Amino acid sequence: MDTTINLAPYAASDQTSRGRLYPESDPEYRSCYQRDRDRIVHASAFRRLEYKTQVFVNHEGDMFRTRLTHSLEVAQIARTIARALNLNEDLAEVISLAHDLGHTPFGHAGQDALNECMKPYGGFEHNLQSLRIVDVLEEKYASFDGLNLTFETREGILKHCKKNKAKELGELGQRFLKGEQPSLEAQLVNIADTIAYNNHDVDDGLRSGLITEEQLCETSLFEPHYHHVKKCWPDLDKKRLIHETIRRMINELAVDLVTTSATAIKQTDPQHIDDVRQHQAPLILFSEKLHTKNLEMKRFLRDHLYQHYKVHRMTVRADRIVKGLFEAFMKDPLLLPHVKDQRKQLRQVDEQQLARQVADYVAGMTDRYAIDEYERL
Ligand code: MG
Repeated sequence: MDTTINLAPYAASDQTSRGRLYPESDPEYRSCYQRDRDRIVHASAFRRLEYKTQVFVNHEGDMFRTRLTHSLEVAQIARTIARALNLNEDLAEVISLAHDLGHTPFGHAGQDALNECMKPYGGFEHNLQSLRIVDVLEEKYASFDGLNLTFETREGILKHCKKNKAKELGELGQRFLKGEQPSLEAQLVNIADTIAYNNHDVDDGLRSGLITEEQLCETSLFEPHYHHVKKCWPDLDKKRLIHETIRRMINELAVDLVTTSATAIKQTDPQHIDDVRQHQAPLILFSEKLHTKNLEMKRFLRDHLYQHYKVHRMTVRADRIVKGLFEAFMKDPLLLPHVKDQRKQLRQVDEQQLARQVADYVAGMTDRYAIDEYERL
C-alpha cells in the first residue's frame, strides 16, 4: 500500500521495489518503507544510539547531540527535502534513522581503534556494520535473522563500499562495481547527514565553549546570518541568537539543495528509479556556491572542533578502552556474555569468526557500557 501522494515516477515506490530477501506478505495500512522504518524504531541497536557519542561523549553533558538525536535531525531534514522533490518520504526517513546504527562507542575514535584491532581479520567499517546489523545481527523475527528490510533501504544504508567488499554483497554491491548511483532518496539522506552535523556541531561547539562566535564569523555560511539576526534584534540573548542563526543556515542549505536538484532532475528527465541508478552522477546536489560554503564549514569544524585538544583527549581514551576490550575478549572468549553457556560451540569457532563476534559485541556497546565493561575486566 503506497501512502505517499504525489510521488514522482522516478521516486522509490512499493510498485518498483526490488523487495525483501525473505518474501513476506504486504502490510495492510503501511507502505513497505513504513514497515522498514517501524522495524528500525523497534530494533535494539536503534535504542542504543541514545548513549553513543556523536562528537561529545554522552556523559559530558545532557545538552549535546547523541547519535540518536543526530539521526532524528537527519530524518527531519531528509523528509523535508524528499517531500519538496516528490520523492518517497518514508524511504528517506528510514534510511536516515538507520544510517548510523553501526557506529561504535566513542564516535570515529572508537571505529578507528576497532578497525586497527580487526586489520588481520578483514577490518571494521561502521557503514558495513550498519548493514550487518539490519541483515544479520538483530534477532527478533521467527523465520529470519536481521530485519529483512527492502532492497532500497539496504541500498541507502550502504553509503560507500570498497570494491573487494562489494563483490561479497551480491546485488547490493553491484553499483560500486559498475559505478552506478543509489535512489534519489539515498542520495538526499547522504547530504541531509552533512547538513545536520555541520549545523548541530556548530551549536554544540558553541555551547561547549570550544569554538566562539568570532571564530565562526570567518565562515561564509555563518557570518551573514549571524550579523543579520544581530541587526534585527540587537538585544537578543546568546541562546536565541545562535538558534536564529543556525535555523537560517539549515534553511539556506536545504532550499539550495532542493532548487539545484530539481533543475538537475528536470534536465536529466528520468522516467524510472532505474534511470536514476544508471545516471553517471548524483542528481541531488548543492549549487557550486553552497557546495563551497558547506565544505568551508566542514573544514572549519575539523580544524577548530574535532581536532581540539579536549575532543582529542577523548580519542586517546576511546582508543585505550576499545583496544583493551578487544584484546581481553580475544584472549579469553569465555568473558563474552553470550557465549558463556556455549563452550562446545566456541571450540568450533576459528580465530577469524571469533574476532568478528568480538567486533560485533564491542561495536554494539554504548559509551558508558564500554567504560563499565573495561573497568570490570
Ligand atoms: Mg550521520
